[in-house]
Amino acid sequence: MAGSRKTVEVRVDGAPAPGRPWSATAIGQFHDCPLRYWWQKVERWETPSTTALVVGRAVHGALEHLLALPPDERVPARGDEFLARSLTDELALVEGQELDETEIREGAAAAMSAYWQTEVPADIEVAPDGLERRVDADLRGLPFLGHIDRIAVSDVGLRVTDYKTGAAKPRFWWGYWRQQLLYAAALQQLDEPAAEVELLYLKEPRQVTRPVYPAAVRRALDDLEIAHEERDRMATVGVWEARTGPLCNYCDFRNACPAQRSNCPPPGSPESNEILIKAGLTRRESEPSSE
Ligand code: SF4
Repeated sequence: MAGSRKTVEVRVDGAPAPGRPWSATAIGQFHDCPLRYWWQKVERWETPSTTALVVGRAVHGALEHLLALPPDERVPARGDEFLARSLTDELALVEGQELDETEIREGAAAAMSAYWQTEVPADIEVAPDGLERRVDADLRGLPFLGHIDRIAVSDVGLRVTDYKTGAAKPRFWWGYWRQQLLYAAALQQLDEPAAEVELLYLKEPRQVTRPVYPAAVRRALDDLEIAHEERDRMATVGVWEARTGPLCNYCDFRNACPAQRSNCPPPGSPESNEILIKAGLTRRESEPSSE
C-alpha cells in the first residue's frame, strides 16, 4: 500500500550486485527501497526523464558557469545567458519525450530567480577546483564517488554546497544532509577538511548551513556501511526487500512491483521486463562509473 509502510521480500531473476563505487544518491535509493535500487542499479533500467530533472540539470549547469566567472561578472544577465544555453542543451537531450517545454523553461527561470534571493554570488570565494568537483575516496574501506556542486572558502573554513531545485520536503532532509556529510568525509580523506555543509533551496528560496559535526558524519558513514552489507546479503540470496512508503506513488517500477500486486511476474523475468518497457523504461547497455 502506497500510504503505509511494509517490507516484502522479493525473489528476483538477475545479476549479482555490482562492484562499482557507491554514490550518495545510490545509498539513499538503497535505503528507500532495495528492490527499486536493484531494478535501477543492478538491472540498469532507466526511468523516463521528468520536468524536475531537466530543470535541475539546466540550473546546475548555469550556476556552474556563473560561479566560474570573476566575482564582479556574476550578474543576473550572465546567469540568464548561461541558463538559456543550458536549457538548449538539456532540451535537445529529451527531444521526442512527452515533456512540456514551457513548464521546463518556467521552472528553470523561477529557480534561477530564486537563486538570487539565497546569496550574492559575487561574495562567494570559490575554492580551487571547487565547481562540480569529482571526489573519489575510500570511506570505511568502501569505494565512494561523488560530484560536489560547489566548494567555497567561508570564514570558518571550506563550505560544501548543494543546489536543490525541488521543494524542501522534511522527509528527505536526512538524505540531503547525508549526501553533504559524505562529501565532507571524502574531502577529509583528501586532506581538504570541510567546516560547513550547505543546502541552497531554489524552489522556496532558502539557505541552510550546518557545521560538519563528527557524530553526523559517523551516522552518514554508518548508512553507507549498512547499505553495503545489506546489498551483499540480498544479492547473495537473490532476495531483495521491497520497502513500501510514500515514494511508491512516484515509483516508475510500481506496475511490476510484487509489493503492489500479488500476481506480478518475478522481477527480472521476461514478463516483468515487458511491463517495464510498456511503462516507458529502457535498459542501459553500458555500466555507469558509479552506483
Ligand atoms: S513500488 Fe514501492 S515497494 Fe515497489 S519498487 Fe517502487 S518504491 Fe519499492
